Amino acid sequence: MSATAKVWLDRLRDLPLDHPVSILNVCGGHERTLSHTGLRAALPETIRIIPGPGCPVCVCPEEDICDAMRLARECDVVVVAFGDMLRVPINAARSDPRCLSDARGAGADIRPIASPREAVAIARALPDKRVVFFAAGFETTMAPVAAMLCQGVPDNLFLLVSGRLTWPAVDMLLASEKPGFDALIAPGHVATVMGPEEWSFVAERYGLPIAVAGFTAESLLAATYYVLTQLLATTAHLKNCYPAIVRPGGNRVAQQQLSHSMRIVDANWRGIGTIARSGFALSETFASRDARSLLASPQDAARRHAGEMPPGCDCARVVLGKVVPTNCKLYGKACTPRRPIGPCMVSDEGACHIWWTSGLHN
Ligand code: SF4
Repeated sequence: MSATAKVWLDRLRDLPLDHPVSILNVCGGHERTLSHTGLRAALPETIRIIPGPGCPVCVCPEEDICDAMRLARECDVVVVAFGDMLRVPINAARSDPRCLSDARGAGADIRPIASPREAVAIARALPDKRVVFFAAGFETTMAPVAAMLCQGVPDNLFLLVSGRLTWPAVDMLLASEKPGFDALIAPGHVATVMGPEEWSFVAERYGLPIAVAGFTAESLLAATYYVLTQLLATTAHLKNCYPAIVRPGGNRVAQQQLSHSMRIVDANWRGIGTIARSGFALSETFASRDARSLLASPQDAARRHAGEMPPGCDCARVVLGKVVPTNCKLYGKACTPRRPIGPCMVSDEGACHIWWTSGLHN
């Protein structure tokens, strides 16, 4: 741990906190730093930082994964997707193949990519094939997808968009009867794109302290310190603890590209249900790029499992910060990174995967 991090930790330990406090983080990167560096364990016992909705792969609904499978298996297209997405299982009890990776093993042309640029390169290299980019992610992923569209893409490239906005999930939690946390650490990269002001509603509407943090131990400890000092002073405002990167107003170019290429729609979050105005869909300008138009028929009703999770899987409650991974009875038993049951054990940003790979085995 750096000298600066130790200073922040000492400041935290000196706070006159006489009751337990729960702080929600909404970023897989934050959760990785907290877990992999042992930071969470170094905090005073009264301070509990819980993982929340910080993993886009974890909330991607089954029906979108099923659509990607149908496109690859029934429509003679090449499907490209970010690597994590390939291993996300759909309800194992009634699905064959169980994930995109299995469908690939059975002969479907499904390829992992690491960036939108790769999707464009594959489409250009295969001019006689239709290529579908399964674009799932939060604002930080959708911004480069929007940039790709605005810069122009080959005629044979289509998009299956499953993008989500982070703040509406937090808003939904805060509007619920028991949010389950006293303060919030906001995601630095999302704030870089959309602007930190997007998160001020947490303090203004709900009276909860909030700080934007980067991904270092120092930045996370500073954010933790600042929300706790607000709690102790019974005040609430937005504090930017990532000022080198997060600027007022965010990235205006990225925002313009997003509003040109996407529209905001009500969207289903896996296991959670529909959250108002929490999803990205292609704008009218790019409607002809919608990969769903390539499907011969809309998904049949039996395949639409909005909100459904594999039996025993607690991912939805993990994503909402209602329980932690070790509370799931499948954690580390039936469900491991090698054989994941739920989506939170697949992605590098999934809380269960992060906890397990950090050595939290019980
Ligand atoms: Fe879902 Fe597995 Fe996590 Fe349980 S341990 S919540 S089944 S991912």
